[in-house]
Amino acid sequence: MSTHKPLVIGNWKLNPGTAAEAKALCIAIRKKLKKDAPVTVVVAPPFPYIADLTRLSPTGRIMVAAQDVFSEDSGAFTGEVSAGMLASLGVTQVIIGHSERRAMGETDAQVAAKVAAALRRKLTPVVCVGETVRDGSGSHFGVVEAQVRALAAGLTARALAAIVIAYEPIWAIGTGKNATPEDVEEMHLFIRTLLTKLYDRATGKRVRIIYGGSVKPENAAALHGAGMDGFLVGGASLSAESFNKIILAVLPA
Ligand code: PEP
Repeated sequence: MSTHKPLVIGNWKLNPGTAAEAKALCIAIRKKLKKDAPVTVVVAPPFPYIADLTRLSPTGRIMVAAQDVFSEDSGAFTGEVSAGMLASLGVTQVIIGHSERRAMGETDAQVAAKVAAALRRKLTPVVCVGETVRDGSGSHFGVVEAQVRALAAGLTARALAAIVIAYEPIWAIGTGKNATPEDVEEMHLFIRTLLTKLYDRATGKRVRIIYGGSVKPENAAALHGAGMDGFLVGGASLSAESFNKIILAVLPA
């Protein structure tokens, strides 16, 4: 069982289509959320909606994350958004290394540079790791190990402890095929053991590890029971009703 306060992050990706719809979705999620519920709820809208949403929840009852960040603080980088800009809007977390960005060519080195940029501005990096396929040979452990080692290479134990690792098997993202609770529990233990080897037991324990990949109201309770510290939710976070049911599934009974 997880000893961390559960964390549920909704990754809205390239949705919804208008700022008005984004506000309405955030308001609907907030309305359903019980005051003082022991859970950290975060939404990650597209960049243009961020300022509206941080204003909607000034007390941080619903926190706002960015879906990406650039590694540099300023300069001639057309189209990029820095960690300082996000922090100035009230953003508290940032998703880094999502498989959809890695598929566009983002490398482990770029992920590490973005993590460093986020940490400089006290944003919590939510770093995604996960294998493309599971073929029964166990190669998925090697893939995740390489990603976690690359992430850890430049980080002190203190910096690492501030990070959230999202285990997101790519074959489960947006496909409707979720990993089983047994798969998730096994990978969770694998990552914690690796962090303990790379750092120490206390650091290995402090890092929050969440799961993402076709989490839905129907599978959330079983997946949470596998010991994860929460979820990164894509498709199901676009409905306040589904997202709320997932949040309820991580609350203590
Ligand atoms: C995601 O985008 O990180 C994700 C897990 O998506 P979905 O829940 O739709 O699989």
